[in-house]
Amino acid sequence: MVDILISGGTVLTQNSDREVIPDGSIAITDNKITDVGPSDQVARDHSAERVIDATGKLVLPGLINAHTHVSDILLRGGFDPDRDLYDWLYNVKRAGIGAMDATDHATAARLYSYESIASGVTTFVENDGELPWNSRGKAATEAKLGVYDDAGIRCIYARGMMDASPNDELLSLVDKVQARNPDTVHQPPGQFAADTETVLSTVESLIEEYHGSADGRQSVWPAPVIIEAVTTECLRGAYELAETHDVSMTVHVAEAAYQGTKTISSVEYLRNIGCLGERALLAHCIYIDQRDARILAETGTTVAHNIMSNLRLGGGFAPIRMLKDKGVTTCLGTDNAILSDTVNPINDLRLVASVHGGKMHDPGVISPQEALDMVTVDAATAIRRPDLGSLVPGTKADVILLDLNKPHLTPMVHPVRAVVYGALGSEVETVICDGEVVMNGGEVTSLGGFYTLQQEATDTAAAIRERANIM
Ligand SMILES: [Zn+2]
Repeated sequence: MVDILISGGTVLTQNSDREVIPDGSIAITDNKITDVGPSDQVARDHSAERVIDATGKLVLPGLINAHTHVSDILLRGGFDPDRDLYDWLYNVKRAGIGAMDATDHATAARLYSYESIASGVTTFVENDGELPWNSRGKAATEAKLGVYDDAGIRCIYARGMMDASPNDELLSLVDKVQARNPDTVHQPPGQFAADTETVLSTVESLIEEYHGSADGRQSVWPAPVIIEAVTTECLRGAYELAETHDVSMTVHVAEAAYQGTKTISSVEYLRNIGCLGERALLAHCIYIDQRDARILAETGTTVAHNIMSNLRLGGGFAPIRMLKDKGVTTCLGTDNAILSDTVNPINDLRLVASVHGGKMHDPGVISPQEALDMVTVDAATAIRRPDLGSLVPGTKADVILLDLNKPHLTPMVHPVRAVVYGALGSEVETVICDGEVVMNGGEVTSLGGFYTLQQEATDTAAAIRERANIM
């Protein structure tokens, strides 16, 4: 007797052969997939406590959002979007998050988790850099992790780290940027930094306390925010923490043209100080060259592509074809919830599979299968979780069902093309994470009703905008 039998769907296994089973079934016992195959075989071999009829549904591994930020979801739509990275960062994001307390962060986490589950995400890598290094910061972290636990989702909580004092060049830049909105309640540039020892020991404490909690659904990583905001000692210390605690490290790299020193690339610098390798997941990598890509491949470093946020900030986007051709594993992130403007990876797949072709005048440059891999198997490789991202016996029971009975998915000829080019993410109907049903029949079951959450999030967001006076 198995716990759950998903029966009669079109199963995109995302296994090593990328096998699609037209009338397939999946058996789940506890939190693991125990059988996958044609329905007549799997249904014959197993009786189940609960049968989920997947007729007319597409069955996929739970999606992995490999780079994202949570708390700023409450700033969505509340600012003039004509801003580049530093304008947005210093006039909007830091001002808004600096005005939030732990209760506000928990509300953001609830909205974020709700939308993620409803979009088929079962694992996300949260980068959380705008928190102070004191009891207020710890309270915000704890409030969020409690919400993720209740939501039943997998979170890799990557605690953003900053320990470098802002130099004169940065202070001058921030002054000029903030002059645009003098009435906004800005946070001082060093507000979210602390000394190296405090930063490293705090992150290590978080790993020791929370990594592996929530029945194994909660992970904690060190996350130096950007190279320009951390010392070499902090970068090295973060990578050592990752090695010591068998986790990974993530950093924003080469997101803007003016990041990095003039004489050495960010990638080369990270390589030189011993911070590249399989435990390093770099976000963005827009401003890199062939040599950087080769170094990333040689070191086994992986890259999270954040196509939508990069386009929104007018920053360009990463040369994903070049990275893939060099052998770099790439994955997809929705990045800041206010730059996508969703936390819905399916919504971005069409773009990933199209925009590179447009830029390179080659419509086949990123195939639909490669795009889908970036939110499933390749993302699992990038976060060093081979037990996620595919539907094969022994992997974790993270499974989603999409309803195919939609005008925009008709006629259904090729399921991978349909998901990548046609699906919107709103077709997600059922979500199982770690063997638990967290969305059923289109309703997220783990977080209460949406109406209450909608009111709470709307009111909280309005209060934050008012306190920070965001324009
Ligand atoms: Zn980011």
